[in-house]
Amino acid sequence: MAISIQEDRDGQALESLSDNIDAVNVLKDQLKKERSMLEASKFDAEKDKTQFRQYEEACDRVKNFYREQHEKQTVAYNLKARNDFQFKTRAEMTIWEAMEKLNTLIDESDPDTSLSQIEHLLQSAEAIRRDGKPRWMQLTGLIHDLGKLLFFYGAEGQWDVVGDTFPVGCAFDKHIIYHDTFQNNPDHDHEIYGTKNGIYTSGCGLDNVMLSWGHDEYLYHVVKDQSTLPNEALAMIRYHSFYSWHSGGAYMRFMNEHDHKMLDAVKAFNPYDLYSKSDDIPSAEALKV
Ligand code: FE
Ligand code: FE
Repeated sequence: MAISIQEDRDGQALESLSDNIDAVNVLKDQLKKERSMLEASKFDAEKDKTQFRQYEEACDRVKNFYREQHEKQTVAYNLKARNDFQFKTRAEMTIWEAMEKLNTLIDESDPDTSLSQIEHLLQSAEAIRRDGKPRWMQLTGLIHDLGKLLFFYGAEGQWDVVGDTFPVGCAFDKHIIYHDTFQNNPDHDHEIYGTKNGIYTSGCGLDNVMLSWGHDEYLYHVVKDQSTLPNEALAMIRYHSFYSWHSGGAYMRFMNEHDHKMLDAVKAFNPYDLYSKSDDIPSAEALKV
């Protein structure tokens, strides 16, 4: 099957949005901690104000992104995306080639604005390695965002590549970021998809729950079929953007025993994804050899 790359896609725009989404997730996580430290010293408050303006800007762009994502991630779209995945060959490349492809696209951008995707992947893997975690987890850190290549191979936009993920086919939980923007999703008031459990049953297991299509779900399906990574690694990849579940406690009713073990693994992985961006930038060339 012919492979077509969408050359007109703006890698920098994807990169920038992806960074803003991360920034908002970091802010949400920090807010949880800050609440328990309301009486913190005053000089810190000055610093926070500056940061907050940046976050407000990020939040604005991120909210517009989620408005589109929340409107378009329907059951129908997700069934089509999975069908396309099964019957389309996109490209074949090694892990390092995939990372370099992501990085080539980012090279066109201003290097001062943010880390590139390859740097984020290397930082995550390096942080996991420095903490003495298993080699399979280091590899998971290295590849966890490679599904973003989907953007250049037939994605409809950014809304079906990046951002937090959530189940489709049942009511959208209030713990999903910018929950109010689901109003215009055709499934919102659907007679089945709009109900609490929708097409699922309690305890059915998250393997049977359809998560919104994006880089997590895409890479999960690739890795599940083409690697020997353990179940914990597959869960880290599939659920790393499922914040309403792993950080918000939503959708617990669908979990089975296996998912409870996987939740621990996903939670253990999350800090390496969310907070490794503030570490020193690793040298891709030095780490390649
Ligand atoms: Fe990601
Ligand atoms: Fe990431």
